[in-house]
Amino acid sequence: MSELIIRDLRATVENKEILKGVNLTVRGGEIHALMGPNGAGKTTLGSVLIGHPSYQVTGGQILLDGKDITYATPEERARAGLFLAFQNPISIPGVKISTFLRTAFKQLHPEDKTGVNEFFDNVKKHLKKVGLDESFLSRAVNDGFSGGERKRFEILQMIILRPKIVVLDEIDSGLDVDALKLVADEIREYYSQDVGFLIITHYQRILKNIEPEFVHVLIDGRIVKDGDKELSLKIEEEGYDWLRSVA
Ligand code: ADP
Ligand code: MG
Ligand code: MG
Repeated sequence: MSELIIRDLRATVENKEILKGVNLTVRGGEIHALMGPNGAGKTTLGSVLIGHPSYQVTGGQILLDGKDITYATPEERARAGLFLAFQNPISIPGVKISTFLRTAFKQLHPEDKTGVNEFFDNVKKHLKKVGLDESFLSRAVNDGFSGGERKRFEILQMIILRPKIVVLDEIDSGLDVDALKLVADEIREYYSQDVGFLIITHYQRILKNIEPEFVHVLIDGRIVKDGDKELSLKIEEEGYDWLRSVA
């Protein structure tokens, strides 16, 4: 079973400390929601997890299945099984989507014996499910994608590449109700397959469809509250102010 451990993680952006000791463990088969007001550091956490160069880790550790990936390159993290939809570390402009998917899959699962035809049959099945046309496969990665296409492609990658742990930052922003339901359906399907999810969101909207078992609230760079679905419902009704006193 996979396990992502974030231990006392501290990080700065332009010498300003944003993450002030974040502790969080996400295991395969679990869905976690990370909520928090604007500016809390949610996207910073996601960016640090992927190894974005603008963010400096100043303390703590990120472990994936016991492997220390705190200072690993984005590619190494992806190969270790971490998937961050909002900032694909292995996308290469000018590369056809079909080539990209096959290559990335091979890198992640070198032991997998699925043949090319079977692989693309599966890709086409899921293309349809996420609402993309088959012609999409001949386009270049991220080349002129609309916002909706980009999100749908992210979901497609999440399904096809079969990562161990998935981090989604604001996947719900810019998605209409139908697309949101589709995302939620796919996540629930994956949920049954021992993939761990960390869903970062400001709003409770997407959580209605997904229903995470674990909810964490990040305020001013620290997780100030852990709970379950009830916590996200309370936040929807009362906002974040009642939590600030403990921050
Ligand atoms: P959230 O996603 O919770 O809204 P962010 O992680 O985006 O919060 O931002 C946390 C804080 O870090 C904010 O004060 C923001 O201004 C600052 N910050 C984030 N990214 C950068 C950056 N690239 N350069 C400067 N400041 C940043
Ligand atoms: Mg923000
Ligand atoms: Mg954000």
